Amino acid sequence: MRITLIPIGKVDPAEIKMLEDPLKTEFSSDVTIGKKIPLPAAARNAARNQYDAEVMLEFLSLSGDSAGYDRALGVTDVDLYLPGVNFVFGLAGRRNAVISFHRLRQSFYGLPEDAELFQRRAVVEAVHEMGHTLGLAHCGDPRCVMRFSNTIAETDLKGPAFCTTCRPRVRTGGATGR
Ligand SMILES: [Zn+2]
Ligand SMILES: [Zn+2]
Repeated sequence: MRITLIPIGKVDPAEIKMLEDPLKTEFSSDVTIGKKIPLPAAARNAARNQYDAEVMLEFLSLSGDSAGYDRALGVTDVDLYLPGVNFVFGLAGRRNAVISFHRLRQSFYGLPEDAELFQRRAVVEAVHEMGHTLGLAHCGDPRCVMRFSNTIAETDLKGPAFCTTCRPRVRTGGATGR
């Protein structure tokens, strides 16, 4: 399987780079970093100062250079939301997904920055959303990467790995259609 990581808007290249190896390992796949695409103006909600995750995902699928890849993961630093929801850490479609680094930084919570913790959170969110594109639903195991998380505390409770129930369900054989 081949995964491409696509920066959406301004994202620190080093922060995207650190997703490469964990995704390679977790999905036994090739992971490459694609060309950056701009933030879609249509996704921006000025009143909320956030971007609509659904619109971002659609934009990624249309304009991201994902030809030749099985999966594309858009990575952005802006805050994402869905109508009716305060925020989302990420969103997955059938083939592609987006994640936001915005709420993964300690500084967002008024705390001193912690690079290691940020990296762990970023990997957890990336594996979680990629897991959805590979056919996995949410899992009840609080330590499993597929556990739904609505707060950063829940994200920190789970690890970047699949539980023994989810692990064999990961279908890395290409397109699935969920
Ligand atoms: Zn989820
Ligand atoms: Zn699980």
